[in-house]
Amino acid sequence: MIAENDIDKLKHLLSNPQQISIVTHTNPDGDAIGSSLGLYNILIQKKHKVKVIVPNSFPEFLKWMKDSEKVLNYETSKEEADAFLQTSDILFMLDFNNLKRIDELAEIVEKIDAFKILIDHHLQPDVVANITISDTTACATCQMVFEVFDLLGQKNLINKEAADCLYCGIMTDTASFRFDTTTAKTHKIIAQLLEKGVVKSNIHGAVYDQNTLSKIQLVSYCLSNNLNLYHNGKVAVITLTTEEQKKFDMKKGDTEGLVNNGLSVLGVQVSAFFSQKDDIIKISFRSKKDVDVNTFARKYFDGGGHKNAAGAKSLLGMQATVDKFIELSKELVPNN
Ligand code: MN
Repeated sequence: MIAENDIDKLKHLLSNPQQISIVTHTNPDGDAIGSSLGLYNILIQKKHKVKVIVPNSFPEFLKWMKDSEKVLNYETSKEEADAFLQTSDILFMLDFNNLKRIDELAEIVEKIDAFKILIDHHLQPDVVANITISDTTACATCQMVFEVFDLLGQKNLINKEAADCLYCGIMTDTASFRFDTTTAKTHKIIAQLLEKGVVKSNIHGAVYDQNTLSKIQLVSYCLSNNLNLYHNGKVAVITLTTEEQKKFDMKKGDTEGLVNNGLSVLGVQVSAFFSQKDDIIKISFRSKKDVDVNTFARKYFDGGGHKNAAGAKSLLGMQATVDKFIELSKELVPNN
């Protein structure tokens, strides 16, 4: 995961107070915000001057994390973020494998000469950094942040506030510890986070039991009207147009995890969710076992992610994008 001399380098770098920027991916999820604020809450104890900067806003159900209100949204605080980034000594880049994943932020991130450290678990990382910490077998970037401070011999800095954040990212990226990426090591780390005082029912409740009525109605509508199966019931497709989003007053995060409903249908091996945003169709892919949606998303939709969970975008419009997917998805579920 990390070379021994990189651990020494990192220890040395963090031994004196520094100005540190932490950047994570667009549409930040539980792991993105959890790893960023987890790291933030670790670093501020050593008197570093730290800011978390995100490319756009993040869902309400993550706003219970300590200091989440201090996170800078690049869409609304560009100037402040640019000024801080430009004078930063260190830049941590968390939970993304390509600068395309941070949109507008990419330009300044590429330009500044801060010491850059990537910590990420996505396949095929392609980001220039002074230290690259990549573990594509890790279930979450949050797990890796824990391991880094374990290797630094500074687990004591993972206080309750940081532990809450890291627990959240592991919980959300593993869909509550159910994916095969959840290993014995993951549970050993979770055990240590619990020993730091994490109350797991509180975090589960804060993340999953915050549904608005309109969200539940949006999800029910999608599942009743817009979920269809193809290729002998092995491929599920869920769609959501702009008009439908308006009808249910959709908020950011309302469709988080919706794609998993398709995958939960008996016999389904691949599920895809298509959501319209202006001229763009955003796509989420989920798959079971050996079905590789990362390669599929890279090959046909300029996307990627993990073997069983990937994302992509299309500019073809809803119907053409869905048609293209239905046709090409035959190769994901051969022998029909
Ligand atoms: Mn992640």
